[in-house]
Amino acid sequence: MNAKRKHIPVRLSGLADGHHELSYSVSPADIDLPGEFGTSVSVNVDLDKSHSQSALHITIDTEAEYLCDRCLDPVRLAVQSDFMVIYTHESSEKRPDDTEIRQIDVNDPIIDLAEDVRDAALLCIPMRRICGEDAAGNPLCKSPVPDEHNAEKAVRTDPRWDSLKSLKLDQ
Ligand SMILES: [Zn+2]
Repeated sequence: MNAKRKHIPVRLSGLADGHHELSYSVSPADIDLPGEFGTSVSVNVDLDKSHSQSALHITIDTEAEYLCDRCLDPVRLAVQSDFMVIYTHESSEKRPDDTEIRQIDVNDPIIDLAEDVRDAALLCIPMRRICGEDAAGNPLCKSPVPDEHNAEKAVRTDPRWDSLKSLKLDQ
């Protein structure tokens, strides 16, 4: 990513105090997301600005394409996440929750959310990459599932689980 170019810029100094809603659509390549991300990333920012700080609630929505763990067909998975970031002029403010607090750089009051959005997207790629399943848990794969590629089945029949199953956990 070109550090000088801001891909998701928010000009904090240019906003009046109060509530703002901003939306962006960025190309995954522009924010260094891997090739699996094939659709543009939509970013919505709910921003509350006061004289001392700006609280941003950022929601991202995109898709990534992986091979299904079961049938190896390409499957598009929704990648959605949201997180909070607070930019403040004060240095030692304590927060009860784990919301990230950053200081506003007075020399560069245009923040860039590109890195935050990329990190959030990478963190919320689903662990289970499957075509989906019906209410009973049956796979919705259209292609046959080769045994050697059925990662989920391999986990279930792993003999190491047998010794765990024989443990009596209520003792
Ligand atoms: Zn499948």
